Parts: sequence; C-alpha cells; structure tokens
Amino acid sequence: MCGIIGMVGVKNAIPYLMEGLSRLEYRGYDSAGIAFLNGNQLACKKALGKLENLRKTIQNDARNTNIGIGHTRWATHGKPSFDNAHPHISPNAKFAVVHNGIIENADSLKNEHFPNTSFASQTDTEVIVHLLQKYYNGNMVQTVSCVQKLLLGSYALGIISTEYPNTLFCTAKGSPLIAAVGEVGNFIASDVSAVFGYASGYYNLSNGEICAVQENDIKFFNNDAVCIEKQIEPIIADALINDKQSFEHYMMLEMMQQPDAVRNTLEPLFINGEMCLDSFVPDSHFLKNSLSKIVIVACGSAYHAGLVGERLFEDLARVETKAQIASEFRYSNPIINQNTLAIFISQSGETADTLAALRLAKLKNAKVLSIVNVRSSAIANESDYVIYTKAGREVAVATTKAYSSQLAVLYALSLYISKIRQSVEGEMYDGLIKQLLCLPQKISETIINTQSLVKCLAQHFYTQNDMYFIGRQLDFAVSMEGSLKCKEISYIHSESYAAGELKHGTISLIEQGTPVIAVATDETVIGKTVSNMREVEARGAKTVLVTFEKYKDCTDKSEVIVIPETASQFSASLSVIPLQFLSYYMAKLRGCDIDKPKNLAKSVTVE
Ligand code: GLU
Repeated sequence: MCGIIGMVGVKNAIPYLMEGLSRLEYRGYDSAGIAFLNGNQLACKKALGKLENLRKTIQNDARNTNIGIGHTRWATHGKPSFDNAHPHISPNAKFAVVHNGIIENADSLKNEHFPNTSFASQTDTEVIVHLLQKYYNGNMVQTVSCVQKLLLGSYALGIISTEYPNTLFCTAKGSPLIAAVGEVGNFIASDVSAVFGYASGYYNLSNGEICAVQENDIKFFNNDAVCIEKQIEPIIADALINDKQSFEHYMMLEMMQQPDAVRNTLEPLFINGEMCLDSFVPDSHFLKNSLSKIVIVACGSAYHAGLVGERLFEDLARVETKAQIASEFRYSNPIINQNTLAIFISQSGETADTLAALRLAKLKNAKVLSIVNVRSSAIANESDYVIYTKAGREVAVATTKAYSSQLAVLYALSLYISKIRQSVEGEMYDGLIKQLLCLPQKISETIINTQSLVKCLAQHFYTQNDMYFIGRQLDFAVSMEGSLKCKEISYIHSESYAAGELKHGTISLIEQGTPVIAVATDETVIGKTVSNMREVEARGAKTVLVTFEKYKDCTDKSEVIVIPETASQFSASLSVIPLQFLSYYMAKLRGCDIDKPKNLAKSVTVE
C-alpha cells in the first residue's frame, strides 16, 4: 500500500514524479506529496485527498529541480490529513522521507530517543526523519544502515537530503521497492509501472538493502553498508497495457478485457493444442505419487478464486484441498509437509499476508507454487514454481480480469493434476479441455448477453441498504465474490451465504423488497437452491437467479439472468460477469468513485 516514486536526472524531475504518482495512485489515495531540492534547500508540497489536489498546488507554483521523491498514501498510522501526508521533513530541514509500510516500534523509538520532542504528525514514519537527523555522521549510507537497524516492521523508504544534492537514497525490508535505470535519469519506485516508458531495466531491493541512486549510477549496499552487486532485470512491455480509451472507468475497461486476459493466460499453458504445465509445476512423479494435500492461500477476491480451486482439486484431481485466508494461515500451525503443494494467489505478487504465509509454507517444506499477475514480484521471486496470469495491468481497485485469469489457471492446474493422477481421463478430459479453450468466447457472450439486463436491475436495487448473494458448492464461491464486489465499490452492505445456511439465522434479516441474488448452475443442487429462493420470497425478498439457459424455467417468480452453457466446473467464470456488472452499475447510480473506492487500495502491502 502507498506508492513511492523518486527521480534524479538531467531533466526537471517534477513531471516524472507526478506521472509516477498517477500510475501508483491505485496503491493509496488518502493524500499525496512530493519533496525536492530547490537550490540547496528542501521544498515540500502536499495535499489531502486525490493526486488532482496536489497537481493543482504544483501548477500554481511551478518549479525546476533534478531530484525529488513523491508519495501517495494509504494511511496506517494517523488519519488522512495534511500533516500526516508524506514526505516528512526532519526538524533541521535537511532530510525528507517517504515511507511504505509500518514501523511497529515507532512509539517506543519516540519515547526512547526523543522524549521531549513534539512531532508534527501522528504517523509512524516521522520518527525516521528524526532518527536520520540524530544519527547523521557525514556518510548517508552508513546513517541509513544505522537507522534501519533501529526499525521494527516493514518499510520501503525514499530519502533525499540537502547534504547530497545529487543522490537519492532508498532502502527496503518487507515492502516493495525497485531502483530503475532510465535515459533521462534514474528512478526509485514501488513498482515497475511507475517508470514504464522511462526506464529499461530495474533492480529489486530486499532484506534491508540500501541503494544510492545518481543520474548515471546506482550503487547497492547490504544492511551493514557494505557494497554489493545486484542483477538487473529488463522491463518488459505488458500486453494489456491499460489505456482507458472511451470507457468512463478502468473497471469497465477491465471487465471488457476479461476474454483477452483469460485467452492470454491460457495460451502459454498449451503446446500444439496439448496442455503442458511441466515447466510450471512440480514433476509428475511428485504430483502422482507423493502429493497428499493442497493448500490454497490468498486474500480477498484471490481467496474466492482459491475456493473455486479447492472444489476442483477435490472433485477432479481427488486431492484433499483447503483454501485459506492468508492473514489467518500465517499465524496458524498448518498441517503441511514436503508432500503438500501450497498455492499462493495474488494479483500484485506483493500482498503482505500472502507473502508471509508463503514463507511459513516454505519453512514447513511444502512445495510452493504461486499464481501472480506482476512479473518478478516478491511472491513470484520466492516461489519454487510460478504460473503468471496474463491479465495485463489492472488499475481499478476492484479486481475483475485478474480474478478471471486466476480462475483460468486453477482450471488448467486441476485438470493437469487430474490427468497425471488418472482421476480424469479420456473423453471427459478431452471434453473439459475443449470447454476450457472456449471460455474466452463464452465470457464475451456473457458480457454481450447480460450487460443491459443487469444495468436495468441495478436501477431497482441501487437504493437498497442490504443485499444477499446465495449459492451452493461452486456457486457459493461465486456468490462470495459477487457480494464482495457489491460492498467494495457500491458500499451496499451485502453478505453471501451457502444457500442452505440462510435459514439458520440470517433469514431473519429478509424484509419486503430485500434483494437476494442466487447463483445456481450446478445440476446436482439447483433444485435445492431454488427452494431456498422460495423461502426468502415467502418473506418478501426480491430474487434474481443467475443460471444456464436450460434451467431458466425453474423459477417464474424471479428475474433470470441467463449465461451461456459451459461445463459446470467452469461456470464461475461466466456467472461472475453479471455480478460484476451489477456492482458496477449500482455504484455508478450511487455516485461512488468506482475505480478508487474509499478506504481501499489495490495492493495490500501492510498487515
Ligand atoms: N505507515 C505509513 C503511514 O501511515 C505509511 C503507510 C503506507 O504504507 O501506506 O503514513
């Protein structure tokens, strides 16, 4: 969470800082700020709220500088306010710092080192500039090394100082940070997207490494300030770069990109029409003879994708599987060992809880496979095996195309393991592969067929305070995703329930007109779900059914949203589409900020 950018170069750094911040704004938008050297003095501009507010401040007061740092904040300590906005400046006005992460011992550092000092902000970050001032010994790398040894928690820090007018310093431990090499100068950033087009290569920082960045040079040091060498990585253009084109919101563009995202994700998993995951997964001997358990660990929508995976690994591959929330898993004592395949799912590849859970699984000797969208991200780098989703850059905070791509990988992986374990073979396997390859086309059809009907339904529902999403089996996993979308972008309270569970308490909340959206595509339980719809209708609920054409007549009391036929194992990829549209259109009617919902950020790099 929060985005950091820094530049030292031959040109005016401010436009590069502002462009970088706008590309990083998805990481947080409580406030934004930049600090730069104006002659031999530090200057700082900050504004509360979105980057637009900072832009206005800077336009009124144009500057020219070759070095600066910028920050877009997602508050963890101290409310969003002007004073709490980064950068923070030391009392002697010699050091400016931007920070991503949490300094867990900030209060004790303040009490111990600065008992009589009053701080300008409530952040955990400000103590760092006080420490830099206190411990500065004429050598900045040594000073950073000394200060970071006092810090507990996670941090990516960008630092400029009047003492070093041509050098940008940075360090990172547990929070993402890159140093990038460009034509017009060199950069630091929270991720590669911030410097795409300006830089050709980058270095990932970790483990408390320190970096000194100059216009033509980047030097690295370990946390003891000893010089080290690091490997540069190329910056590769992303196939689905997001240009909002004529769409009003990134979320709508990204929903429309789902067929391509799924197609691009599946493409590298097939060679000459045959699915081949050999280079992405543990060897077939392990998968066939040793694999005894799969755990899938993730947060938010990625966890919901994991719930679909859980069902498929059990139903198709017949391997005991458990999907778990990363923030719970990381503090549990999971029963896993060298015969466990631990799968970690994260769009950004830097989700803090998922990364910590991955490290726990490694400690317990599980084979670690990650499904991530961002190349060379921390989760990808620390995994034994990686399957990349090819969703392209996702900007809207509420995920759509990354979730759909994660589902596609889980389908492929479950089928691949099923074949190796001979639990799905012959015609059934061939049929499922055929259906899998048709999914991008079916997603397109779902988009075309459901969008306008759902837009009308949103008119009926957008003033509601509460909604419920129900389903059984795989349909329950999808209803959880639909409910989350509803909460996160339209701010309507919503819950999802296993359809049979509603009557064990929550049905008491159903009132006249309460919307209940039922997802029912599974032949074995559709009758049961329809009965549960009847139960809530009898208590006044307004029901909507999302189902296949062949089941559309199983209710005459509900609005029915028909999705194209596919294998029931893959229905989640289609039934989720109308649920995404529903939350989008309700959010629009409620005047919500769809791409940047309040209190959220796209990439959750703090606990
Ligand atoms: N903990 C810092 C703050 O609240 C940085 C938060 C972040 O990483 O977004 O200001």
